[in-house]
Amino acid sequence: MLWSQSFLKTSKTDPSDAEIPSHKLIIRSGYVKKLSQGIFTYGPVFLRSLRKLENIIREELEAIGSQEILMPMVQSSSVWNESGRWSKMGPELLRFKNRLDQDCCLGATHEEVVTDFLRHDVNSYKDFPLSVFQIQNKYRDEIRPRFGLMRGREFLMKDAYSFDRNKEESIVAYQKFKKAYQNIFDRVGLDYRVVKADSGAMGGSLTEEFQVLAEIGEDELLISDGSDFAANREVCACLPNLEPPTQVFEKEELIETPGLESMEALAEFLKTDVSNLVKTMFFKVEIEEAKSENIAVLMRGSDSVNLLKLKNVLGALQQPQALEAHEVESEVGSPPGSCGPKGLEMRIFADQNLKVFKSCFVGANKKGYHLSGVQPGKDFKIESFNDFRLAQEGDPSPEGDGKLKLIRGIEVGHIFYLGQTYTSPKSLNFNYLDNNGKAQIVEMGCYGIGVGRTLQAAIEQNHDDKGSIWPKAISPYQVHISWLDPGDKDTSEWLEGFVSGLKDKGIDYFIDDRKERPGVKFKDADLLGFPVRVVLGKRGFGNNEVECVLRCKNEKHVATKDEAFDLTLKLLQEAI
Ligand code: ATP
Ligand code: MG
Repeated sequence: MLWSQSFLKTSKTDPSDAEIPSHKLIIRSGYVKKLSQGIFTYGPVFLRSLRKLENIIREELEAIGSQEILMPMVQSSSVWNESGRWSKMGPELLRFKNRLDQDCCLGATHEEVVTDFLRHDVNSYKDFPLSVFQIQNKYRDEIRPRFGLMRGREFLMKDAYSFDRNKEESIVAYQKFKKAYQNIFDRVGLDYRVVKADSGAMGGSLTEEFQVLAEIGEDELLISDGSDFAANREVCACLPNLEPPTQVFEKEELIETPGLESMEALAEFLKTDVSNLVKTMFFKVEIEEAKSENIAVLMRGSDSVNLLKLKNVLGALQQPQALEAHEVESEVGSPPGSCGPKGLEMRIFADQNLKVFKSCFVGANKKGYHLSGVQPGKDFKIESFNDFRLAQEGDPSPEGDGKLKLIRGIEVGHIFYLGQTYTSPKSLNFNYLDNNGKAQIVEMGCYGIGVGRTLQAAIEQNHDDKGSIWPKAISPYQVHISWLDPGDKDTSEWLEGFVSGLKDKGIDYFIDDRKERPGVKFKDADLLGFPVRVVLGKRGFGNNEVECVLRCKNEKHVATKDEAFDLTLKLLQEAI
């Protein structure tokens, strides 16, 4: 492709709304353009990368027997009502009415539609295993679209769905998809981890995420340095810490603690470690629709609460909300810094690490006072002990050996074993007849990859201050030719032979034949970031010199006219 004939405009200035390198780079490179918040047009050069990634995904999914389909983006509410998600999904689901005044939405995910597609015609045990996938735009009205394609409102997703006769076979499908995903991200050349995850609005139990490691990643991951344990921090289990406190506050006493509202200030005043104290927190939880309850949660002073664990243990519909200071005051009668469990008229839950506390130092529910010697069981009742703690770097790994290390990641893929969440009679009712003629409920799994997000994650992981460094498997072009004297006869003839050699080998190339200064061409080549750059100029050519640059190492090599082709192939081999 000749630059002079393609629509690609680069820019020297960063877009004002871009916070992270990859977002700046995709805009400055002219790869994509924002139409409105979270909504982008993909230009012709970037679209090549999208297609390459789509094809890798296609190949790997077809290799495990999944079949490509294409489902509607405009969906009527009826299937969403069958699963109950029409009322459960929040404002992220973009809803509207058609001219017949019927409720519709734009597809945010397709569990309902795919189940409806299959349930009427798939009815024998002989029809399984069955899996389908599609690559299609999804619409989610994200509250805060940001980071370019990373969190868009409209974005390209590959979603796949597996259907099996029973749990065992469904888990086999899950494992096959997991392996296919590993092949996909290995082929793309990304540094990623597979981590345990939360199933969120999807339902189901077994679920893992594919996380591309990057400092700006929105997700915190905990990985063990002594085993292959890895989890999203939001679901990372904590082993119980059975070490008793190093100081026990046994004596029953009301102690004046004016102005000491933080755990740290209190610990300093008492000359003790903050882990010997007990903190009391209050949350509003919605256990049933439109029915909320205030609860108290007790933690060791040094530990933080993990809201997702709290939500899951309580079976809450939404993430529990911490009560505001004024709400605590009107509920308990004292500000948050002086609250404790004694005398509370609400359910009290405790973190498992408090099992070793026989008496506690807690707030007195009287402003500026604490109580020592408060005993669980005697002075207040604990509903249950659970793992509510937010795991920390340095914790022992909850499985296998080693200590946990905190890293950040970008979620590019997510796989779920769903069980019968969408197929049971309470939902879309998808069943089949087994070999005894008995009706059985189908088991399901679902699997997503953010196609645009993956491409941008690849740039986030591979760039320098000059521009992107595309992994060759998904680079728009593999070879960038900076032709310094376009139209010059000698270099033109040589170039013809060179690119016909590339064509024969199936290597795509992009020729910068614009009438620009060499400095401009080099800057743009670095910005665009294709794996190998060939610099072809009249002067060097006269000295029998062609320059080849390996972008990932910024390594310059000089070859003769005859060697340049083989050197290009060799550098391509070395490229990431
Ligand atoms: P997140 O936690 O980032 O909001 P999610 O858990 O809602 O994502 P899934 O429903 O698992 O996402 O969707 C499958 C994949 O689609 C994700 O792993 C991610 O790569 C991609 N994805 C999800 N939301 C967006 C978005 N707003 N913009 C771009 N890609 C997205
Ligand atoms: Mg997810």
